[in-house]
Amino acid sequence: MSQKRVLKADWAFTGTGADLIPQAAVALENDRITFVGPAAELSRSQLEGATVEELPGHTLLPGMLDGHTHLSFTAGRNHEEVVDEISRETDMQQVVRTAANAQKCLRAGLTTVRDLGGRRDVVPTVRDAINRGQIAGPRILSCNVPITVTGGHIHFVGWEANEEWELRKAVRTLIKQGADVIKICASGGNMTAESNPLMVQYSAQQLGVVVEEAHKLDTPVAAHAIPADSIRNCIAAGIDTIEHCVWLGPDGGYDYDAEAMATAVSKGLTVSITLAGVFRGYLTDLPGSELMREAMAITSKLLEEERVEMFRRIWQSGVNLIISSDAGVRYTPFDDFFVSLRSAVELLGIPTKDVLLMATRNPAQGLGVIDERGTLEAGKVADVIAVAGNPVADIKVMANVKLTILGGKVLFRDGMIHAPRTTALGVS
Ligand SMILES: [Zn+2]
Repeated sequence: MSQKRVLKADWAFTGTGADLIPQAAVALENDRITFVGPAAELSRSQLEGATVEELPGHTLLPGMLDGHTHLSFTAGRNHEEVVDEISRETDMQQVVRTAANAQKCLRAGLTTVRDLGGRRDVVPTVRDAINRGQIAGPRILSCNVPITVTGGHIHFVGWEANEEWELRKAVRTLIKQGADVIKICASGGNMTAESNPLMVQYSAQQLGVVVEEAHKLDTPVAAHAIPADSIRNCIAAGIDTIEHCVWLGPDGGYDYDAEAMATAVSKGLTVSITLAGVFRGYLTDLPGSELMREAMAITSKLLEEERVEMFRRIWQSGVNLIISSDAGVRYTPFDDFFVSLRSAVELLGIPTKDVLLMATRNPAQGLGVIDERGTLEAGKVADVIAVAGNPVADIKVMANVKLTILGGKVLFRDGMIHAPRTTALGVS
């Protein structure tokens, strides 16, 4: 029997680029959206037999997508603590942590999260359990383990590959074992004490080999890239999503390359910036912001004006830009996705409507799932959230997720995670 649900709210943000719809309704039938528009235009057949839910003062949005998480990580107080904790845990402890972290994403209004690296088979185990309906959770796209050079960035969970044939073998094996995306560390990173964040790890040619091999099997490639030279390598190689994209020059200053970004735009590449961890310190009303400021004062001089300017230039380049969290690394918990959105609005000065697109339509495009997700449109999967308030008027209300529906099922409501009901024959 088909299950019909109609959600009515004061506004709907469709993620299509259209204005907010006032006095809106979204109709769902089983796992699909069947109607999005003014509630007054609902047809009798859409209402017939449907459960109608009124959400006064709320806004309906597409379920959000976070393009960069580490679901098995601990979001501890510093990089050493996170690395130490995840290194000590058994695989079984890691699986439980990953499942719990995945459920926290539902609280944040995320219905799709992409995991860019953990210990072998941990995240895919949880992904598969969610897909079978054994536990409630968001849709997970997993790289399984990231590819890195010997001793390179996140080598403690990585697949170490240096030569071209090793890279081809790594890509093909990971895809054979079920990876949804290939993650490669094109440069060093801050989290790995043994690596140098300003060091290029792979040449454009090596990255090109990875892209070639992954694309043969219709699998996108994400690359961690901090310094300008590694970003240029990623753009030349046609990496699908460039993660962090900080444009650091060899002297530690910023070295934004407008010409390279224009090439990224013409190739249809996506830039995935991660803001929450380091920017949290500047959102002074947030818990932990003072601790974060202290930690940053010791370790670096982040958020100087040039950093903001660099991110604004990426935005103004017109590239498909997505706001990701890097949840799991220091100071970046999984139920706080709104912090990334607030950072983009309050610290980078990007308009709220554009920022909301960077968490819905743009990531769906960049992650290759736009045909099914990322906007509220008839025919797409029924991944819908409701937040209390109007986020276009005030981005802070994205902290107030009231309802998360995934594939037509309520998985989070009023602070509580709902487990899917199952029968002996499967999910009912
Ligand atoms: Zn990361």
